[in-house]
Amino acid sequence: MRIALGGFLHESHSFAPRATAWEDFRRPGGFPPFQRGAGLIEALRPTSAPAAGAIAAAEAMGGVALVPLAWCFANPAGPVTNNAFERISAALVDELVAALDEGPLDGVYLDLHGAMVAEAFPDAEGEVLRRVRAIVGPDVPVTASLDPHCNLTAQMVVLADALVPFRTYPHVDMKAAGARAFTLLMERIRRGAPFARAFRQADYWMPLTTQCTMVEPMQGVMAARAALAEKPGVAELGFCFGFPYADFADCGVALACYAADQAAADSAADALLAVLEEREPLFAGSALPAAEGVARARAIAAQAAKPVILADTQDNPGGGGHGDTTGLLAELVAQQADAVLGLINDAESAAACHAAGEGAELSLSLGGKSDGVPLAVTALVLRLTDGRFTCTGPMSAGNPADLGPSALIAIGPVKVIVVTRKMQAHDQALFRHLGIEPAREKILALKSSVHFRADFQPIAEEVLVVAAPGPVLADPSTLPFTRLRPGLRLRPKAA
Ligand SMILES: [Zn+2]
Repeated sequence: MRIALGGFLHESHSFAPRATAWEDFRRPGGFPPFQRGAGLIEALRPTSAPAAGAIAAAEAMGGVALVPLAWCFANPAGPVTNNAFERISAALVDELVAALDEGPLDGVYLDLHGAMVAEAFPDAEGEVLRRVRAIVGPDVPVTASLDPHCNLTAQMVVLADALVPFRTYPHVDMKAAGARAFTLLMERIRRGAPFARAFRQADYWMPLTTQCTMVEPMQGVMAARAALAEKPGVAELGFCFGFPYADFADCGVALACYAADQAAADSAADALLAVLEEREPLFAGSALPAAEGVARARAIAAQAAKPVILADTQDNPGGGGHGDTTGLLAELVAQQADAVLGLINDAESAAACHAAGEGAELSLSLGGKSDGVPLAVTALVLRLTDGRFTCTGPMSAGNPADLGPSALIAIGPVKVIVVTRKMQAHDQALFRHLGIEPAREKILALKSSVHFRADFQPIAEEVLVVAAPGPVLADPSTLPFTRLRPGLRLRPKAA
């Protein structure tokens, strides 16, 4: 059996300060760089990418020749430029054409995110699937794994034979979703005909901070999803939480069910939608102002044996933040908190620290490159690295990080990790590679919304979510959207 494998992953924030360009896919932080053809399988195998799960499933099954197309990832930021979108789509399609020139394909597996917006294509994954479908024709099965933060569209559901989002946030089952999409591809090939499918969209948004599947209300919704997925005839019930920062009509919560017949697909989809409607008021979120968050963290830390975590959710590099706003940092410095901040993404400051050397003291205009609000500080350079390490946490173990020249600096009692390329602060290895053991710290300030919980909640005394400057608004309803569908509630309604 010959199965083509490719991927194109991006989560796009329509109002993030910077667009996502070709170079961002060539040098991503936290995942392998752009891959094409030979070498792709080897590069992805040791990672936590969904494609690695599909590769493992194919190899475990035996008798499958995987044909590598192209695969790439870039950190969330503004929409993907036309240049990058066309280059990457062309690579995928060219490799697909070359594969077909060598012989027939039995199926295609794609590793997609689902929340990509390209400058010319708001439903960018729908466009990628349209191009792939145009090349392979209507009869070759195509399945894809998705991030549950995808903004699922009717076009995507029509064009793919099955779409499988992860079930967890923090995403600790990325490989499992890739493996499941591969298994469904095999099932689809065996049955010789498409699954019946049902697509539904909810009428309200869930803020990111309430989407965590480790706690209620999402824990209960995911349990209901799992029970419905066991109903007779249901092959897959995918629930997508949405990424509420994309300015287009299909932004939001959606689900897709694949089943043996239409009645089974409709019934499971409608039942899950009813659960979401019933629990809507539980999804209203909240965040503390930075000053209050830091004051509370200091008070708790004074009595605690374990670190208090401040989640700087609105500048989350995993949601489109640049990872360089200084609102929380300024508050930590003002209150002289015994804290470590991971991270500030500022290539100029990182270079200045490397030029000065370990042990040097220097003046920096730190961070704020994305919003014009840097913090003027005098800093002591504690440690310098090349920013390369391997992630170790439950979400990303095995993934190579390459953050460029990096530094640990001290501004009085506040220590700050300064990097050249951003990543979300969701893995303890980020701290350890600079000689910091996170569990021994009093306060950890993390540029992350939810993903940090997988690796940091087990060592935390308490988690406080704070709202400091950044584009990943805890309440996205205030962003200047113009293209959302009518009737969509940007905040869950009250009970
Ligand atoms: Zn996600």
